[in-house]
Amino acid sequence: MWRRLDLRGVAARVNELSPAEIRRRLPRAATDVDVALDVVRPICDDVRDRGDAAVLDATERFDGVRPAALRVPAAALAAALDALDPAVADALTEAIRRARLVHRAQLREPVTVEVAPGTTVTERWVPVERVGLYVPGGRVAYPSSVVMNVVPAQEAGVGSLAVVSPPWRGGDGLPHPVVLAACQLLGVDEVYAAGGAQAVAMLAHGTESCPAVDVITGPGNVYVAAAKRLLRGLVGIDAEAGPTEIAILADHTADPAFVAADLIAQAEHDPMAACLLVTTSAELADAVEVELGKRVPVTRHRERVEESLSGQGAVALVDDLDAGLRVVDAWAAEHLQIQTENAAAVAARVRHAGAVFVGSYAPVPLGDYLAGSNHVLPTGGTARHSSGLAVAAFQRQVHVVECTREALAAIAPRIAALGAAEDLLAHVDAVEVRSR
Ligand code: NAD
Repeated sequence: MWRRLDLRGVAARVNELSPAEIRRRLPRAATDVDVALDVVRPICDDVRDRGDAAVLDATERFDGVRPAALRVPAAALAAALDALDPAVADALTEAIRRARLVHRAQLREPVTVEVAPGTTVTERWVPVERVGLYVPGGRVAYPSSVVMNVVPAQEAGVGSLAVVSPPWRGGDGLPHPVVLAACQLLGVDEVYAAGGAQAVAMLAHGTESCPAVDVITGPGNVYVAAAKRLLRGLVGIDAEAGPTEIAILADHTADPAFVAADLIAQAEHDPMAACLLVTTSAELADAVEVELGKRVPVTRHRERVEESLSGQGAVALVDDLDAGLRVVDAWAAEHLQIQTENAAAVAARVRHAGAVFVGSYAPVPLGDYLAGSNHVLPTGGTARHSSGLAVAAFQRQVHVVECTREALAAIAPRIAALGAAEDLLAHVDAVEVRSR
């Protein structure tokens, strides 16, 4: 069902290998955003040139339905919340409460530093004015992604929020009703029935229905990622969040039933999901394989799970936790679970992961829905340089510089020296004119 990579006996080699060399030995689906760029470029250009009509044409072509209007009517949002299963409403309400606690704590107060008497630099964080939040909906509906996008934007202080999500098949041209209900619960009244590259282009360029935004965030498929990459610069975007992935670092103390269940839970997202177990225990590896053999045949999304595990599933055996940490750091998983003795101490040594889940009782689905942490996380190894979605994605940092006449006079000779070195003498003059 999945491959076994025996890195035992080569602990020394694991320590000698560069992260890139370790990564090459480990499986991960290749998502070719570059190829998708050629597909999405004409779609984005068409939306720029023809606005709403182009968005509607692309929606009809790719989603098989032509919505009556791109903007979802207020009555449809209210009706979706009225019809929501109370258990789902309760779960979403608690998810929102917890996410607010975590994201509110990310807000930073302005910091003022006096660099010399009379000269201060204040760092302020200012929200962007208007954001577009992508909620995927091609294959599966993600009301939880509404929460993960909207809560940090609201906590950041963004005044204008537009949510986009593809029309749900069989849904009269509207996004999935639970997605609409989640928007209503969060007080978001600007929602559009559009997905894919056409939705991203609508947000970036603006159309008759939808004014342009400053920042676009949210996960999506390869076409969404390609459109975001294409339009980056015109708008700000968050990290690319592609097919989901998990790494589990486990030792002999891990419960094989927990490990197998966690791997299957990740694999059910997507046939391209990647699932990696890194363990010091050959006995655990064997026991997990036995558990997978029992659980995969009876899981609801068996085909997706089998495709994911056989395509990008692997167990890597390592000699010790040091080598294991080196392997998971190199792979830089979107989700990393630590199921070892002294899990918190091991987790504290992790450097590269989108989010870390510590011990046997913090499985990834807790983070997907209700931990309060954000589930829009960097995939494909980009956790080495990018972060999960957070309040900072919706804010800009601004330096505010203040200086007295005396303080400027004191530093003027140094400005003059650097201005002369760069042959920018008007710079020098702009300082000297103040001391004449
Ligand atoms: P989606 O909303 O991302 O994409 C659907 C849209 O893709 C459609 O509306 C259509 O316009 C466009 N499309 C489909 N086929 C096309 C084609 N041939 N050419 C041009 N455009 C086309 O929904 P999805 O497809 O279900 O993908 C969701 C993705 O988001 C999955 O990979 C899932 O794992 C990921 N996801 C990630 C996270 C995270 O936080 N990392 C969270 C939720 C979902």
